[in-house]
Amino acid sequence: MTDKVRVRFAPSPTGFLHIGGLRTALYNELLAKQKGGSFILRIEDTDQTRLVEGGIENIVRTMKLMGLEANEGIYLDNKGQVSERGEYGPYLQSRRKEKHAEYAEQMVVMGKAYHCFCSAERLEELRREQQASGRPTMYDGKCRAIPLEEAEKRIAEGEKFVIRLKLPKQGKITAWDVIRDDITFDWSLIDDQVIIKSDGFPTYHLAATCDDHDMEISHVIRGEDWLPSLPKHLFIFESFGWTPPKYAHLPLLLNADHSKLSKRQNDVAVEDYLKKGYLPDAIINFVALLGWNPTGDREIYTHEELIAMFDLAKVNKAGAVFNLEKLDWLNEHYLRSMPNDAYLELVAPHVQDKTDDHGFLDRCLLLVRDRVTLPSQAVELTADLLKEDLDYSTVNITWKTQPKEQAVERLSAVREMLATVKDTDFVAQGARTEFEMEIKKLITEKGWGNGDTLWPLRVALSGNEKSPSPFELLEVLGKDRSLQRIDAAIDFLG
Ligand code: GLU
Repeated sequence: MTDKVRVRFAPSPTGFLHIGGLRTALYNELLAKQKGGSFILRIEDTDQTRLVEGGIENIVRTMKLMGLEANEGIYLDNKGQVSERGEYGPYLQSRRKEKHAEYAEQMVVMGKAYHCFCSAERLEELRREQQASGRPTMYDGKCRAIPLEEAEKRIAEGEKFVIRLKLPKQGKITAWDVIRDDITFDWSLIDDQVIIKSDGFPTYHLAATCDDHDMEISHVIRGEDWLPSLPKHLFIFESFGWTPPKYAHLPLLLNADHSKLSKRQNDVAVEDYLKKGYLPDAIINFVALLGWNPTGDREIYTHEELIAMFDLAKVNKAGAVFNLEKLDWLNEHYLRSMPNDAYLELVAPHVQDKTDDHGFLDRCLLLVRDRVTLPSQAVELTADLLKEDLDYSTVNITWKTQPKEQAVERLSAVREMLATVKDTDFVAQGARTEFEMEIKKLITEKGWGNGDTLWPLRVALSGNEKSPSPFELLEVLGKDRSLQRIDAAIDFLG
């Protein structure tokens, strides 16, 4: 056993990386990085019936997009092929099958496991009986007493078997968990777990436990759903006289109504969030706070800060609510705080077919930035700005009870003034402030009101009753478009 922190993320490639898996991966990575340890990616593919084509590649690729890369274990090489690196391999669990079988045999010899020959029919019958009489459904231990010699004879004769743990049937075991402290389990409620299936493959319990030992894993950080299995895993460690790793079981993820987060792929696949336009930084920040907050008084943390502040012992025991509004809020934050160029690069692809004037497009996108949650929303938010002709029939260009003639008078005067501004000055940095000063000056000189001048101007420019200020709109639209819109509004008012 080394003193080094060696942690592993050990997904089964049965689908896609989901939000819960990402949190597990992240917490492992945070601990490894903070302690200068190793972050290992091990793929647990021993359940051959549940493998999904491309599942491994998808997990590794998604982790990489999220900025999470294991420094040991499975990775994708330059050609996108699944490869391994590190001295504790193989890291693809199915390739350790022989080792697992040896461990299982050793456990049988030590009297810590036994061959079970019960047929699927018998087990089914047993289950039905137990259910009918309201007892917990578990194996009744029929084969526990078969002497090893007899078992070996039956195997030699070709009889089918599985190997089960020979767990204590009474007493208690107290396990220690970094997050939960001492937890006591009652042996009488724990089933003699199958560790080798009839196809010769190990189950998760044997494979993960033996691999954790062989890979010198220092901390096992995984979801709470594995907590009930902990006594079985500790039993295996104890049987061999191995020192177990430290265990940390992360809180469940819950829906807003506190039901267990549904695993329907569209709700939880990290890939889908990326496709929708959530930023990796926002997702990492969000996922990190599912069950932990480094300070408790703020919500925004960079990946580096998370690494520096991570403390496994401070993770909550209670379930963590998956709050999509918070993810939206974080995404808005990250979209607003990134450099302009980076923001434009993200959102421009959604609207670039709408105009050839790139300067105009960028100005529009920057104007709506404060309202963008997801880059694709830029389409809707810039639609009126990018329109060739506005439809004034559904809006009030006039201010409250203002007569049309008065609105036309105000618009015409402003237009006259704007016509004297040079094209380039119109869109220059700070133009909006100039417009504000000049137009307000005009209003004062004429003795008009702000509302009866600025409302018609704003609606004329935006085609909307709710919109940014007329000064911003002028700068964003530029001279030609602004004058054309004011003219169109005057025309409309007749
Ligand atoms: N293969 C298990 C899973 O996908 C890993 C559990 C563990 O980390 O021990 O949930």
